Amino acid sequence: MTTHFKNYIGAEWCDALSGLTFENVNPSDIQDVIGLFPRSGKEDVAAAVTAARTAFQEWKNVPPPQRGEILYKAGQIMQSRKEELAKILSRENGKTVAGAMGDVQSGIDMAFYAGSEGRRWFGKTAHSGLRKRFAMTKRYPVGVVGIITSWNFPMAITCWKTFPALLCGNSVILKSEENTPQTTGEFVKIMAEAGLPAGVLNLIHGFGSECGEALTLHPGVDMISFTGSSQIGAIIGKNCAGRNAKLSLELGGKNAVIIMDDADISLAVDGTVCGAFSISGQRCTATSRAIVHSVVYDAFVEKLLKKAAAQKVGPGSDPSSDITPLISKKQCDRVLGYIQRAKDAGARILTGGNQLTGGVYDKGYYIEPTVIDNVDPEMEIARDEVFGPVLVLFKVKSYSEAIAVHNKAPYGLSTSLFTQDVNKSFSFFDDTETGVCYINAPTFGSEPHMPFGGVKLSGLGYREAGWAAIEAFSEVKTLYIDYSAQIQNVQFDNQD
Ligand code: NAD
Ligand code: MN
Repeated sequence: MTTHFKNYIGAEWCDALSGLTFENVNPSDIQDVIGLFPRSGKEDVAAAVTAARTAFQEWKNVPPPQRGEILYKAGQIMQSRKEELAKILSRENGKTVAGAMGDVQSGIDMAFYAGSEGRRWFGKTAHSGLRKRFAMTKRYPVGVVGIITSWNFPMAITCWKTFPALLCGNSVILKSEENTPQTTGEFVKIMAEAGLPAGVLNLIHGFGSECGEALTLHPGVDMISFTGSSQIGAIIGKNCAGRNAKLSLELGGKNAVIIMDDADISLAVDGTVCGAFSISGQRCTATSRAIVHSVVYDAFVEKLLKKAAAQKVGPGSDPSSDITPLISKKQCDRVLGYIQRAKDAGARILTGGNQLTGGVYDKGYYIEPTVIDNVDPEMEIARDEVFGPVLVLFKVKSYSEAIAVHNKAPYGLSTSLFTQDVNKSFSFFDDTETGVCYINAPTFGSEPHMPFGGVKLSGLGYREAGWAAIEAFSEVKTLYIDYSAQIQNVQFDNQD
């Protein structure tokens, strides 16, 4: 029997008003149908906005520490259901249950971090330029926030946006990603169980070009927080700019590891392999370029190819899989297209490059871990985000050449440097055009209490997570109190 999932609007579970649905399947076994989800449209967005606006009138006045307590409660429920949630997530996303546990844990971490900020939602006080006058700022919610997410970390991304948005007193409309809607539905159930009042959090399922676009255009939505591709980010940016709505975009990456001549090569290989290939490279912070000093290039590449070939590609249901499937046929074809065009442009495939077939591989979409050299920094494969298990190599003669190659990519999300040299490490922080830097670590591994996000094509607006998120989802109000019992003029030169 097919399971029918629902939207959640004003604390009611409901179908799309049109009655339309879409199907979601397990990427590790596309015969395994998870269920049917409402294919929402403009009218469902309108209903969610009405519910969210109504609920906002009361939610905004709940003291932030009380709002934080609801987040704690949600974190506790998530903790108690962690494995069950991970299984649901693994089935619809395709990563292993262990990988999915990490995704859920990241959400739990954010619940507790954002919850604790309820007693730390600080404004500032300052001395006035006048006598007997007091100056300070206080933070207030933005209003109704529309959240549009990606499928690759369905629990983590949903939590990283929703928890800080709620802590700041906003109402939220979540648009789930169409490949991972069930995880988002489970999250919404948990929030209701934790005691979130009706209408404060609403969920609509459906396609980006339909309900996603409608959410970005609705005048009752004060802010859009988006995680996804830079191309869709640009469309959303235009829609928000057209009506002066607040906006935060977390977009793609073309992240690099830089490996210097003094690097610990084994460590660098380990960091590069997990950064490039785990979950088939479908991370915004995946390592898709390795920029390697010529002195250690051959040693690095030899070890890298050995380790890449030893990776086990398999379904998320097999705990021993190192590399799990691509999310969809569309994504698989996209990655194969990039590999083919790289070959046509003269790049050389050192290992991998093909779709895997036979046995479990026929039940989903799998591509071998792929390493490519003979690449020019101007080539498409060197510049575009591939979002697959594909790594390109560059050989450089110096630190400064490494930085020049690094900064040629139009993206700037995360970067790592393998070296023992403290001078190079600190210079790297200054020299790279990027949002997150790591020394002697992979290009992923962001923590919930620290800001996350990128520059150039990788982001616009605010940083995600940490205190930056608390700033992003609130508005500063500046407050003056004059206790001089006179009308004072702030322009000093006008005073006698
Ligand atoms: P995508 O841009 O195709 O889709 C993202 C979301 O946008 C989906 O929910 C989709 O339904 C919605 N959408 C599509 N068209 C829309 C429109 N016209 N209006 C409104 N919404 C619309 O991206 P994807 O393929 O799902 O995810 C992969 C991308 O996400 C990669 O580029 C990856 O780097 C990026 N990503 C970034 C981060 C980050 O924090 N920087 C994290 C994870 C993923
Ligand atoms: Mn699916």
